[in-house]
Amino acid sequence: MNEIPYYLQDLNPEQRDAVFHEGKPLLILAGAGSGKTRVVTTKIAYLIREKGVNPRSILAVTFTNKAAREMAERAAAIESAAAGAMLRTFHSFGAWFLRRNGEYAGLSSNFVIYDDDDMVTILGSIIEGKKKNELKLIAKQIARAKDYFFTPESAELSFINHSGEFRKIYAQYEEALRKTGNVDFGDLIKKPVEILRENPGAAERLHSRFRVVMVDEYQDANVAQFELLKAICSPETYLCVVGDDDQSIYRFRGAEVKNILEFPQRFGGADVIRLEKNYRSTAHILDIADSVVRHNAGRLGKKLSAERGTGTKPMLAFLSDQDSEARECAALIDNSVRTKKTSAYSDWAVLYRTNAQSLGFENEFLRRKIPYRIVGSLKFYEREEIKDALALLSFVVNTKDEVSFRRVINKPARGVGAAALERILSERAAADWDIEAACERSGALSATGISVKARAGVNTFIESINRARKILLAVESVKRDNSHCILKAAQGLSCCAAGLIEDSGIAKYHRARDEINGETRVANLQELVNNAALYEATPEGLADFLERIALDRAIEQQEDGEPRVTLITVHNTKGLEFHRVIMTGLEQGLFPRDDKEGDDLEEERRLFYVGATRAMDELYLTSCAYRRMFGQATPMRSSIFLEEADGSKLRIVGTPPYGFNPAALRHSAPKQAAPKETEGQSAAIKRKTSSDGRWQIGDRVFNEDYGYGEITAINEGNEGPVITVCYENGRRQRFLSRAQSSRFMKIKD
Ligand code: ATP
Ligand code: MG
Repeated sequence: MNEIPYYLQDLNPEQRDAVFHEGKPLLILAGAGSGKTRVVTTKIAYLIREKGVNPRSILAVTFTNKAAREMAERAAAIESAAAGAMLRTFHSFGAWFLRRNGEYAGLSSNFVIYDDDDMVTILGSIIEGKKKNELKLIAKQIARAKDYFFTPESAELSFINHSGEFRKIYAQYEEALRKTGNVDFGDLIKKPVEILRENPGAAERLHSRFRVVMVDEYQDANVAQFELLKAICSPETYLCVVGDDDQSIYRFRGAEVKNILEFPQRFGGADVIRLEKNYRSTAHILDIADSVVRHNAGRLGKKLSAERGTGTKPMLAFLSDQDSEARECAALIDNSVRTKKTSAYSDWAVLYRTNAQSLGFENEFLRRKIPYRIVGSLKFYEREEIKDALALLSFVVNTKDEVSFRRVINKPARGVGAAALERILSERAAADWDIEAACERSGALSATGISVKARAGVNTFIESINRARKILLAVESVKRDNSHCILKAAQGLSCCAAGLIEDSGIAKYHRARDEINGETRVANLQELVNNAALYEATPEGLADFLERIALDRAIEQQEDGEPRVTLITVHNTKGLEFHRVIMTGLEQGLFPRDDKEGDDLEEERRLFYVGATRAMDELYLTSCAYRRMFGQATPMRSSIFLEEADGSKLRIVGTPPYGFNPAALRHSAPKQAAPKETEGQSAAIKRKTSSDGRWQIGDRVFNEDYGYGEITAINEGNEGPVITVCYENGRRQRFLSRAQSSRFMKIKD
């Protein structure tokens, strides 16, 4: 018998079968930690090494860019030629495809990717009289429609929104977006499918390039991604997907568990391989995860045996409030790292259900000098100054980009008011939708309504854009006197980015705000410039940079090699593993979030399962009796999941709440009682209203920087009502009703 290559020797027989499998499509359906991802990476290496498959003809798709990078590293560790395979997310694959084939859909190769905010700007430019939060809802519904692969003509569009008006708005939005030459997120999936369906030549080219297609985390593919997968594969393509129905946690974004359950029927009688050994977690940890997810009705049910022995029992700690939670977590980590040789900061992960919870841990970790990194909650790219800089850069490569133009043409003020702006944009049709050409035309038609000042302002703006473009085209090197610059440029694209941010006046504009509000906007711009240094100073380099930011915006913090604790939302832990995991905030209303029932509660349970199964050696669960919500200490009930968990496998510390009985396993998911009314809420019944009728005490609000909050006071001042808001993260804010910021909105109940 032939020698088994070393990298296959560790695999169990089912894993090996999956690596050797060829021919029909293959579904690997298995629980957490059973080696699914390991099979995918090994299979890539195996195909190249043993089967002589050209690395370029292999495409592996996964869910986050971080996971894609990790897979690439794992495969390359076995076979260095695996670096030639393409490992991407669905979205980044879509962007790659559109850069090469976008002309079929009228896109330039330098298109930029619009985010949710940009979608709202486009909607604002086509519909009048709607408030920002209404536009946000429409943007969300359009994104959802695209997740389901619905066009404005689709009959099924009524599942998303049954009004005829929505259909009309969606169509107008598509038209307006097309004119900008750019795409939104949904288009990264939808447009490639349309191109591949309508252009046999493009489809043939793609099919002859990729002979092997593999998908990790397949349970979270949505309908549009499923369509894309079908379009990527020809009958000759070898397709292998891996997933776990118990880990499907993106239903709210249109992921369909049935995609995985029906895979064998949809892909011509595919083979199914199950992996039943868990190599990640010790048995008690698996038991806790399993005892909770078992309460879900809609699941296949899988056997999973722990290969790593029993291990220690997970700890469930009942704590008084979130401050003691942060303190206890920090103390636990610190103690462990100091006393156990085997424990390092990087072994630890603190998981939470919502981004806003990270703040308490950050403060405590800073105080105790515990190094940490945050994954997934950096709102860096959503900050005003960063979006301004990105809009400028985006306009350099795409002068049809109306959204970016609107954002920065009069920022800082250049005398270009709303009327002048509309006048310029009205010239676009005659200028092939090119805004720079429209600016020239409107300048030439000076008699019709653009003031001399506005014209001068537009010229200044266009000149700064042109100077940046020249750097990219290397027509002329722009000399600048660095001593006056706020930003320091290093190399690569950072020179162009720093130059433009200075030149356009955006850096100065934000420095003034830093001085007034004590913020760090210029430092953030500097961080952006630093990141740009990694890209080439060419139009393609800039388009690459913008694409990377659009696709990667959730996860980015420079790795410096120092061992750090990971602070992360449960959603973002997909596919990852840590030696020691603390899952925090296990309270009703927080985890499970809100008052979820039925399918939504089942999704929260799967999320618990995902979180718990990240732990290799130690798992800790925390639950607080009180939590600051809307600035007030609110009594909390412990999470239903803690009662569902097998109590015989837990070490319980602290005082369990009255009536808590974890051993009493329930047989069906009980309907949740209505949440107790807190003092704050009952006070809100006697709601005071502001004199302008816009605000009431108790109104729920959302601020893009601080998260959710509640109005706690209304005072009438000389300049009208003054509103006080308390945020969930403990911050307080006062503002004049008439000066409400655009980053702030009232939430309809
Ligand atoms: P998830 O569902 O969480 O994504 P997964 O099924 O993809 O999990 P992997 O991440 O591939 O699981 O594997 C979990 C851990 O088990 C990894 O550390 C991996 O290296 C290890 N592992 C997988 N298979 C084996 C094996 N046959 N022998 C030893 N260790 C293994
Ligand atoms: Mg995996």
